[in-house]
Amino acid sequence: MSRTNAPETDPDAGLDAGLDAGRGDDPAPLSAAEWSPRTLAAQAMGHIDPVTRAVVPPLHLSTTFLRDADNAYRSGFSYARPDNATVREAEGVIAALEGAQAGALLFGSGMAAAAAVFSALSPGDHVVAPEVMYWGLKRWLRQEADRLGLAVDFVAMDDPRAVRAAIVPGRTWLVWAETPGNPLCTVTDLAGVAEIAHAAGARLAVDSTAASPILTRPLEHGADLVMHSATKILNGHSDVVAGVLAAARADAFWERIVAIRATWGAILGPFEAYLLMRGLRTLPLRASAQCAGAQHLAERLSDHPRVSAVLYPGLPDHPGHAVAARQMRGGFGFMLSFRVVGGEAAAIDTAARVRLWKRATSLGGVESLIEHRASVEGPTTPCPPDLLRLSTGIEDPDDLFRDLDAALRAAHA
Ligand code: PLP
Repeated sequence: MSRTNAPETDPDAGLDAGLDAGRGDDPAPLSAAEWSPRTLAAQAMGHIDPVTRAVVPPLHLSTTFLRDADNAYRSGFSYARPDNATVREAEGVIAALEGAQAGALLFGSGMAAAAAVFSALSPGDHVVAPEVMYWGLKRWLRQEADRLGLAVDFVAMDDPRAVRAAIVPGRTWLVWAETPGNPLCTVTDLAGVAEIAHAAGARLAVDSTAASPILTRPLEHGADLVMHSATKILNGHSDVVAGVLAAARADAFWERIVAIRATWGAILGPFEAYLLMRGLRTLPLRASAQCAGAQHLAERLSDHPRVSAVLYPGLPDHPGHAVAARQMRGGFGFMLSFRVVGGEAAAIDTAARVRLWKRATSLGGVESLIEHRASVEGPTTPCPPDLLRLSTGIEDPDDLFRDLDAALRAAHA
């Protein structure tokens, strides 16, 4: 064995060389301006650990950090509640994918991320939010907005005239949109709503969970803030609960959100951040396969005799198709809903009869899920009782259709 090969083949050989950080030939992190999202994600921005030269960054669990002798904290880390190096790595990937100049902040859940945004508003502020949005956040707003001194109006966010009419000049501080809207797949024209919000001196925040930055980059369409339940397709493996915000500008509002996360202790744990980054590496591939599967199912279900309607923006007759085609690329999402002939009983029986689909809540994982949403959301749901929501995974779309088809045909009304 030649001496020059030794460091590659002898597990101890590198130790003599010392674990001195940052050699001159370390590759620089990848620049988002130069490389595509697929490349940035696959290499998690190309970071190499400066100490060990590990290609996969280490998991940083320490809650506290050594202060320098002159009393400074030159590493930038002092305590793990405001910040953590593993969390920062995952935030860097998401910020690059979203094109977020101010960066991204990870939270312990999507709800924690959204709650931080509303909690950063001031008493007296007015919010315009969508009628069709994640029901848990809508319920939270109904319960908590009053206590925060916020006034919230829910409008048809897919109708720009309704949004304009809901604005209260001088008081509306935030327009919150969600596109595609969970679970009815309503589509919001982000550029149009951003213009309305900005003309009134308000900001636009977008829950982009059902799109992912691979399909839509809301900041490019004028949004000020993007939010995701990273529990969904960003992680993609149904084993992490996480949320993220990404901002166009590091302004006073963003600084307030940064402070809220730090003082409330809402940061994501490092192990979850590590798993999330592992998931992010394959996000573009998963998103592409999941969207192709959803499109395939939407088209085949549209022709099914036991299906009365399919709600999916990839179908040309969907009311939001033209807008979605403009602001989404590479697919129309992994979420779709359909209505079953025979009403609520037939829908519930269909979900009971599938063998491959999993009867479970959530979205965006590699395994396909089916859910009767009205049962979950209760009497205030905008979902018709005969509606089933699908989250398409990465299985063979023909298998997924065969399983649904058999369940639909066997179901009793
Ligand atoms: N936004 C959307 C669109 C969601 O579907 C969900 C969860 O289902 C959330 C936000 C809340 O995210 P989390 O469950 O991570 O708190």
